[in-house]
Amino acid sequence: MKTDHPLSVVVPTPAHSSVAAALSYRSELPLAAGCLVRVPLGRREVCGVVWDSPPEVENLLDPASIKAIAGPLDGIPPLSQAWRDLVTFSASYYQRSLGEVALAALPPQLRGLDATQLARRLRRVRDAGAAPTTRAAPPLTAEQALALGSIEADAGPFLLFGATGSGKTEVYLQAVQRMLEREPHGQALVLVPEINLTPQLQARFVERFGEDAVVALHSGMTNPQRLRSWLAGHLGQARIVLGTRMAVFASLPRLRLLVVDEEHDPSYKQQEGARYSARDLAIYRGRLEDAKVVLGSATPSLESWHACERGRYRRLDMPSRIGAGVLPAVRLVNMNHQPKRAVFSGPLLAAIRERVARGEQSLVFLNRRGYAPVLACGACDWRSECSFCSAFRVFHKIDRSLRCHHCGFTERVPRACPKCGNVDIAPLGRGTERLEETLAELLADAVGPGGRPVRIARMDADSTRHKGALEEQLAQVHAGEVDVLVGTQMVTKGHDFRSITLVAAVNPDSALFSSDFRAPERMFSLLMQAGGRAGRDAAHAAASEMWVQTWHPEHPLFGALKRHDFPAFAAQQLKERQQAAMPPYAYQALLRADARTQQVAQQFLTVAAQAAEGLDASGQVVVYAPVPMGVQRVANVERAQLLVESGSRPALQAFLGAWQPVLQAARVKGVIRWAVDVDPLVI
Ligand code: ADP
Ligand code: ZN
Ligand code: ZN
Repeated sequence: MKTDHPLSVVVPTPAHSSVAAALSYRSELPLAAGCLVRVPLGRREVCGVVWDSPPEVENLLDPASIKAIAGPLDGIPPLSQAWRDLVTFSASYYQRSLGEVALAALPPQLRGLDATQLARRLRRVRDAGAAPTTRAAPPLTAEQALALGSIEADAGPFLLFGATGSGKTEVYLQAVQRMLEREPHGQALVLVPEINLTPQLQARFVERFGEDAVVALHSGMTNPQRLRSWLAGHLGQARIVLGTRMAVFASLPRLRLLVVDEEHDPSYKQQEGARYSARDLAIYRGRLEDAKVVLGSATPSLESWHACERGRYRRLDMPSRIGAGVLPAVRLVNMNHQPKRAVFSGPLLAAIRERVARGEQSLVFLNRRGYAPVLACGACDWRSECSFCSAFRVFHKIDRSLRCHHCGFTERVPRACPKCGNVDIAPLGRGTERLEETLAELLADAVGPGGRPVRIARMDADSTRHKGALEEQLAQVHAGEVDVLVGTQMVTKGHDFRSITLVAAVNPDSALFSSDFRAPERMFSLLMQAGGRAGRDAAHAAASEMWVQTWHPEHPLFGALKRHDFPAFAAQQLKERQQAAMPPYAYQALLRADARTQQVAQQFLTVAAQAAEGLDASGQVVVYAPVPMGVQRVANVERAQLLVESGSRPALQAFLGAWQPVLQAARVKGVIRWAVDVDPLVI
């Protein structure tokens, strides 16, 4: 025992056990902080990370009771100080345990492999060999050159504010290239919002830097694939790691550049467990590791926009599209002047027909999948409510099912009203399935060049559920085998569709009157993104159009959209936010509680609110009353939440830190779980 070395080891611990941040173990060999080890924990053996300060064994009551580690994970270099600092910060900022954050950031397979298996994986990654043969890059446009020059010369963080199709990706590529020219062993981390978008971006990076230089890291990969990518990054073999939000925790010993593409995208925020924002952590990580950070978007988050105004980020503007590409003309259709119940206005339908006749493509989007959001009885008050959630089940006509989009509860559509027996039950409202059907009826006689019949397709989470379906459908669109594509926001993101010349949003108004103060921001960026799909090909650019059907054409959001004027939209929104003292002028956190009854969930929050009085910084923090969540009951669990707000981020952090042990100690019978969401995106 005397000769053994005491170690602090971070192990997978429950979400809120900040008390036992690291456990004490001993080891025959001295092990540096950052080493990966196998340790006994209860009856299990788990993977852990040696953390920074070793425990003071002398002070422990019974040093002999300290367990020995089972052994180190041989051949894996220690995780860097910077990586450990990132994890420590994330755990503290997002109010989770160190063990949860640290272990979630490591590939799951590390835990499962024995020494021989691990050695084989390591050898395979090392043998993959060093890459950066770099392909020739196209000459930059003047706007691109200015942006890249600034990224090279200044410190950042940068906000690359570039129109869709302005060549932002090319700037990322060349920023990486310059970095690698200076520092052949440097590494870049490129984050994208959606798994679906990684293959396209990966193809562009591979084309430029070669197969071996680029690895992907996202949750759609198998565990062996993830381990291989992670090791390639950690061993310094991979030059470029490209991934979704989880990749912000990738271990990259020589990280020099971080790119966050489509930085405004809500999917950068993790919505369960440690609810981190990968974008915000990228900024923090850049500072920690002295690496440059480039955020890119055509419609930046108001947080990032505001940071530019305050001089904290540097804005780089690229307003022009590459080549002769111009942004589509925006046409607003005033639905007050259209026949009642018209789904497609006459002018929009005519414009789509014209496209079909010319062999050009149109994209129609609606943010609601399924056939209809509700099925209702005409004779009584029956609605297709979910038995387990405070929500309606969505009618999917394709398989005649009623599906709850919250808990998954699915049943066949009843032949008659379950309540009164009436056979006349009908869909209310409209999802993408029904929109596709309506469009097929309205365009039944439309013909393409050469007299061929019109081809309509739908793309949403339902149509792309099966593996490979998304790729197949995208390929069909790219090959020109589709004339009109109907879809959810899935079709609006990123895809470089070349011959789409018309994009239409048929029913975007709900966002204008949402109780969610971020709804207009999301809607504006969605519409700009969607519009960005049109006119990418110079041959058709001049005739490209973005159609928006609305009952509120006078709304300032649409005015700014018509002019493609994001700065005007941002200025108007920020003014409102400032007047209402909302983010980014205030900082928020939510305490959420789940219980069998709403009363118990709120009781927990009330206890928490009462205990908040007198805590650190509580004078600078407003704790609001508990309320039921928007969808109050999901899978028979009642949900409530409470908002905490402060004008000062440090004050909010100090308060949350002091509150955490109080919350852990709060015992309210019947509470299933609770969680803190710092900087929540949806309130
Ligand atoms: P963004 O990421 O801003 O939407 P991309 O980087 O995808 O834009 O560029 C749009 C299109 O223009 C792509 O097809 C890309 O290959 C092309 N492109 C970008 N930069 C250049 C350039 N400097 N010269 C020629 N083509 C370019
Ligand atoms: Zn009925
Ligand atoms: Zn349900």
